[in-house]
Amino acid sequence: MAQPPRNGRKEPSEGSLAAPTRHALNWQDESFYDEALIEAELERVFDICHGCRRGFNLCESFPILFDMIDESETGELDSVDKSEYGKVVEACTLCDMCFMTKCPYVPPHPFDLDFPHLMLRARAAEYKKKGAGFAHEQLVKMDRNGKMAKPVAPLANWATKRGNKLTRPLLEKTAGIDREAELPKFHTKTFEDLAKNPPQLNTEAPAHGRKAVIYATCYVDYNKPETGVAALNVLAKNGVETEVVYPACCGMPYLEEGNIAQVAKQAEKVKAELLPWIDKGYDIIALTASCGLMLKMEWPLILPDDPDIKKLAAATKDISEYIVEIAKAEGLAEGLGPIEGGITVHSAC
Ligand code: SF4
Ligand code: SF4
Repeated sequence: MAQPPRNGRKEPSEGSLAAPTRHALNWQDESFYDEALIEAELERVFDICHGCRRGFNLCESFPILFDMIDESETGELDSVDKSEYGKVVEACTLCDMCFMTKCPYVPPHPFDLDFPHLMLRARAAEYKKKGAGFAHEQLVKMDRNGKMAKPVAPLANWATKRGNKLTRPLLEKTAGIDREAELPKFHTKTFEDLAKNPPQLNTEAPAHGRKAVIYATCYVDYNKPETGVAALNVLAKNGVETEVVYPACCGMPYLEEGNIAQVAKQAEKVKAELLPWIDKGYDIIALTASCGLMLKMEWPLILPDDPDIKKLAAATKDISEYIVEIAKAEGLAEGLGPIEGGITVHSAC
């Protein structure tokens, strides 16, 4: 919420506690992919970051940038070879942390700095020019991969297990997946399968009467069905009537590679199935925070003229957000209460 002016003076936008504003992504315009424009914008933004350096401990991108500058001839951005800029772009995971929590120059500040979306734009231009490569294009097909792995889950898990000396070096060579990386496990029963036996609804709970659709997300559906079952149990205990719906992946992996057109297609697919539920009075709950970020934040910026996408964004909540809302509005069901002692919060995307 914007701060009220003090002594009639306008509150400075730099470092303000107000939520940043964000511009729609102009991805359907040719200029979005113009290499000269992108390079000029990277140069402008990197120079501001060099002067600021607040992002130094957030991720790989900033240390790469600052090391490049510090090790250059003049110690300034002007002597960094522009062909090196790609390393900063490549290291960004689009987590949004710098934009959301750190950067004092996000809009409405006149510097108008949106670091993650600039990284996305640079990646989108690269994708348009060269694509992402065969192996990467296969990896991002989450639904196809999940469906293929389901009937042979034990075999898929054996093949992708860290330490498998036969398959992991091969996977590293062909798909570029580090052999030491822990990979998600697959299951013969997805969350959608397990949700066919829902827990009993607690009609005595104060929040009874609420209705919510759980948007399963590809990660929970194929790789972490137990998270979905836990969410179903917590919601049923709190009297929330639920439906599990999973039309398709939210498109985050496509966003990561810069394929914004495919993200828009995924958004259309998911929207078509979720919207009728909203019209029937259901809230939408996303079980993976990055997917929630897509529905709430990225889709409305990718399809800014679609009122249904805005409606979907407004109806979507993360599971933790939803439970806190219940706790504040109606109160939690009997038997649920504060956990004694401290907890660790991973402040992720
Ligand atoms: S979006 Fe995340 S990964 Fe990318 S630069 Fe910002 S903090 Fe780093
Ligand atoms: S993105 Fe913002 S906070 Fe991060 S280094 Fe650049 S100017 Fe500073």
